[in-house]
Amino acid sequence: MRQQTGALYTMSYTSTLRIQLGKPTINGSKGGQPKLSENGCRGLQHRGVFCGSVQKSKMVLPENWKSNTVKTANEAEKVSDMKVPSAKVPCHLQVVKTSDKLLTVTFELCPQNGGELCVRKVKSPVPILTHAPNATRRLVREGPLPTVQEASQAESCPSPPPTTPQPEKAKAVTTKVWENREREGKRASCIALESPHKKSSVDNCRSVSFSDESAPSSPSKDPVSPKRKPQRSGDSLKIMNKVSQVEVKKGEQAELSCSIQGTPPLAASWVRNKKPVVESPRICAVTSETESRLLIREVCEEDGGSYTLCVQDQTGSVQHHTRLTVVDHPSPPAGKPLISGLQQSSLTLSWSGPSYDGGSAVLRYSIEVKQVGQDSWRLLTDTCTSTSYHVKEGLVPGEQYQFRVRAANAYGVSEAAAESDAVIMASTRDEDPDFEEPVEYTEVSLNSKDRVDDLYVKLEKLGMGKFGQVYKLQEKASGKICAGKYSKARLQKDIANARAEVELMNKLHHPRLVHCVAAFQEPGWVILVLEYIAGGELFERIVADDFEHTEITSIEYMSQILSGVGYMHQQSIVHLDLKPENIVCVSKVDTRVKIIDFGLARKLVPGVPVKVLQGTAEFVAPEVIAFEPVGFTTDMWSLGVICYILLSGESPFQGDNDMETLRNITSGNWEFDEETDAVLSDSAKDFIRRLLQKNMKSRLTAEQGLKHPWIKDKAISSTKTLSKEKMKKFLARQKWQKTGKAVLALKRMAMLSHRSDSTSSPSTDDDSESQKVFSFLQEQLQRPPVFSSLLKDHTEVAGSSARFHCHIEGFPDPEVLWFFSGSPIEESKRFKIEYEDSGSCTLIISDVSPADAGEYVCQASNSHGQAETSAKLTVHCLRAKRSARDGTGKTA
Ligand code: ATP
Ligand code: MG
Repeated sequence: MRQQTGALYTMSYTSTLRIQLGKPTINGSKGGQPKLSENGCRGLQHRGVFCGSVQKSKMVLPENWKSNTVKTANEAEKVSDMKVPSAKVPCHLQVVKTSDKLLTVTFELCPQNGGELCVRKVKSPVPILTHAPNATRRLVREGPLPTVQEASQAESCPSPPPTTPQPEKAKAVTTKVWENREREGKRASCIALESPHKKSSVDNCRSVSFSDESAPSSPSKDPVSPKRKPQRSGDSLKIMNKVSQVEVKKGEQAELSCSIQGTPPLAASWVRNKKPVVESPRICAVTSETESRLLIREVCEEDGGSYTLCVQDQTGSVQHHTRLTVVDHPSPPAGKPLISGLQQSSLTLSWSGPSYDGGSAVLRYSIEVKQVGQDSWRLLTDTCTSTSYHVKEGLVPGEQYQFRVRAANAYGVSEAAAESDAVIMASTRDEDPDFEEPVEYTEVSLNSKDRVDDLYVKLEKLGMGKFGQVYKLQEKASGKICAGKYSKARLQKDIANARAEVELMNKLHHPRLVHCVAAFQEPGWVILVLEYIAGGELFERIVADDFEHTEITSIEYMSQILSGVGYMHQQSIVHLDLKPENIVCVSKVDTRVKIIDFGLARKLVPGVPVKVLQGTAEFVAPEVIAFEPVGFTTDMWSLGVICYILLSGESPFQGDNDMETLRNITSGNWEFDEETDAVLSDSAKDFIRRLLQKNMKSRLTAEQGLKHPWIKDKAISSTKTLSKEKMKKFLARQKWQKTGKAVLALKRMAMLSHRSDSTSSPSTDDDSESQKVFSFLQEQLQRPPVFSSLLKDHTEVAGSSARFHCHIEGFPDPEVLWFFSGSPIEESKRFKIEYEDSGSCTLIISDVSPADAGEYVCQASNSHGQAETSAKLTVHCLRAKRSARDGTGKTA
């Protein structure tokens, strides 16, 4: 190592600190340590020891700092009398700005005992090197350098370099330093070395340690630039064995591991749900230079999710996502199975999937049955692949049964779900799907004598249509609940229309068609009192969570609609406004539906063409748009559209606006989208195809529809659960359209779909979270230079080459200066410095001569400190040796 001699310099810094105030001292107790604000801010330090404390009322610096009192300018009650007691070291503090939590101080420090100051997170450091002849200076070999980091917004100008006479060797070094400063525009009195990790040279501003000892004897005029590692390709850090999916059975140990190839030191962190994984007795992460492993013992459902390994080394950062799936048998199907389509010896069961599939797809369901009053359950099937099942065998008419369902995945079978309600198998009369409680239909005529309010109590609103509003009514006399459809009728035409609607309804006495109870004509209004249908609109009901949606349930609805429409057609009445909103459910618990809204219905008389320009764009038939005569099959087209939406959730002709929708209908081009095509049974597709025929004569009639195999023979239908998501969107769009906000709705839906897309790919949030993790990892990697392999003494023969080799670690990448007898070595033909990515550093001296003999020092420094290693080179002269050996004294 170099010899140390007396020092001649001291330094002072003018800088600005922002100090977070500690809690005020109470009764002389110790106040909280101030924390410096901002990243990595560790306080004013003096040889690694905090050298000052800031309390609300005063700032105290250590005893060897000059006493100084600083009055705050404007916030005397918050920070005042900043005492800097006792003083060997000149120090001047000036409070620039205070706030509740932050104190901004500019200060000038002139320690007399050498350059062992470390000021961390200094906002605007402009170290000023001043001449202080009496000061002593020592080389700092370990710990913090006399460093001022993170310079910015220089607030004072650098002083000129020292001019005091100094020993030749020392002068050589300092002169170089100052020349360097000057060349860089006198930004700061420190060597501003551009690090690959820092943006600006000023940011990385660093002062060298000044040695007053064994300074080089041959000062060079040009400054010697420190050696840096070569620019990295950026892909030297890699995660090798990328496993993207790990499945672990609940209760067992999960191990997520990745091999890492990088340049040590490495820092790694596992992140889950945007938060670093916290170690616990159950969870531990082990990272070496070649691998990072996350071990989770006794995994539970909550441990499942996406884990991201973030790795940082000096060359960069990488991350890898691994999905941990905790698998188990599924939980039981949610809720109890629902029973529908009850007949003498068959029924349809439907149920919801389990709330948790055990992390592995549910493959099948098993269904058991038991007769009420008996204990044993009988397996009906264990291979059902959908969430509904048509029980066709083994049920005795009149007997009472209960059903239960289990879900199975690759890892086992669930517990049984709740048992269904007990059901009595249908009697012969019950087999008629149109069987209803007997209704006393009455002939209704417009009542202009009574007022509806006199006879009915108006309750809540049930719905809203084009022509008015529908309210729940209670008949005062009987307490019976009805629905009142209030339509504005100011013109005679409106009253005539209302009268026509009532007259048509008088002919439509069928369990699948809403019937009219009474009708009132009041000034400006016509009120139709209708039977109350309690279950709400069909599509709303289908999307409700507790409702299974399959082809089989859809068939039940379609066959009822066909039955109602068939009856209408038999009465020579066309509805002309068949659409999902006009199909309502009888009750919340059964699957019976009714057709409502005969506001546009017309009686067709043979030979009298009826042309209409009415309806709802998405559902109207091509002949309506073409203003051609309508027929009974005009309704069948609309049923085709309803059925298409029912099974796919998509509206087959929907365009961006009504015009486009109508154009789509006229063109007659429609098809099933890929997804629907794959899901639906051929028979269902055929049914729709036969309804959506442009030529109205080619369409199925209601009667033919009821005989179509899809409707007639449910067994050939797909039992796959149909998605409700698209239907939800369809309903959302319809609602907005109703309120005239279709455009907005479309935009909103576009946003919705965008949002759902983005969940599949890493979001911006995730990215920013990763960034935070990487910043944290970079913080962790920070360390001063260390020589993991030191220089060794060498003896070489003159004319040969000498290699001094060492290995350097540190982050940010240390920069390297080599010295020979105290003087920095500049690379030349004879002096080569190799500094590799790995940290390996070699000085190669070719053609050595006795003049090269001496001490060589490798000095590595980064923003955290500096380290050195040295070794001696001895050079032998062969000829001299030989001469000595032969005793000839001759030269070779
Ligand atoms: P539009 O022509 O726009 O369909 P409209 O003015 O002809 O509307 P309806 O369709 O008859 O009115 O009724 C509007 C809404 O009121 C229905 O969609 C339904 O939600 C509700 N509604 C109508 N009739 C009944 C009823 N009998 N029982 C319960 N709710 C009903
Ligand atoms: Mg309606």
